Amino acid sequence: MTDTYEPRQVREEAAVNKNVCVVTESISGLPVGRMCRSWLEEGCTAKDFSPFFPDISRYTLSNLIRQDDGLLHFCFPKLSEQDNLVHAVFTREGGVSGEPFASLNVGASVHDSPALVQQNLARIQACIGAEELVQVNQVHGDDAVVFRKGSAVFAESPCSADALITNVPGRGLMVKLADCQGVILYDPEKNVVGVVHCGWRGNVQNILGKTVRRMEKEFFCRPAALRAAIGPSLGPCCGEFQGHERYFPEEFRRFQVRENFFDLWAVSCSQLMQAGVAKTHIEISGICTRCRTDLFYSYRKEGKTGRFAVAAMLRKP
Ligand SMILES: [Zn+2]
Repeated sequence: MTDTYEPRQVREEAAVNKNVCVVTESISGLPVGRMCRSWLEEGCTAKDFSPFFPDISRYTLSNLIRQDDGLLHFCFPKLSEQDNLVHAVFTREGGVSGEPFASLNVGASVHDSPALVQQNLARIQACIGAEELVQVNQVHGDDAVVFRKGSAVFAESPCSADALITNVPGRGLMVKLADCQGVILYDPEKNVVGVVHCGWRGNVQNILGKTVRRMEKEFFCRPAALRAAIGPSLGPCCGEFQGHERYFPEEFRRFQVRENFFDLWAVSCSQLMQAGVAKTHIEISGICTRCRTDLFYSYRKEGKTGRFAVAAMLRKP
């Protein structure tokens, strides 16, 4: 489903030029691209911008594990320590789609050529070594689909949901993103993985808390054992929500960073922690998609654009 939030582009641009922040503190080895210049000049940091949960790992690009053999993608340092988990945050690089979807677009609903999207998906599937790449029709809701061992329900035509959970090794779970959060949940005790598409509507509906509870219910996962990672998405620098009084619950107010701007990464951390996930088990990529359209797609920045992939899979023994 297309995000129907309509940013006021002109005003947003003005705000960016005046009051900018990029969440990456380091740009070493990566092109500056369309990063906001005034951040570099004024020297503001993500910390100044968002003091919430300072003890949760919030990475810069150079802290993430960069892998560019084949398709350029990133991995989370802590999740990478999990031997039975394969995961990847793909970028827009390494695919076959042309502008404005260049190049690793996985979104089938953005008017890119279906044949090219299929080729991109095949590359991602090969990259993570999945027997099958499972996705859903994302609808900005709060529902999860569960794929179990023994059930043959890896449907040809995907169902509507925003979270996928499985205990089946070799099946890659994938969500498609352009500013929304791709969140990976992994239980090393029960060997169960979940991948969530969480935009601001997902936060409002607390899809993260609900997915944790679903993992608990379906697979007896202990929330305290879960590992969570929040992928590149709209950062506090660019998370502007005009009229938020009407659609954000009261408890989001404490994650407001300035007038109309919110830190949805902090909202997600808070929701995960409320669901029982330990602070020390959460990591945030700390990369804002709207600031880094050189690497990721951003619906807010670009409007007509592609979708990048976050994927996770239980490793086949
Ligand atoms: Zn930003």
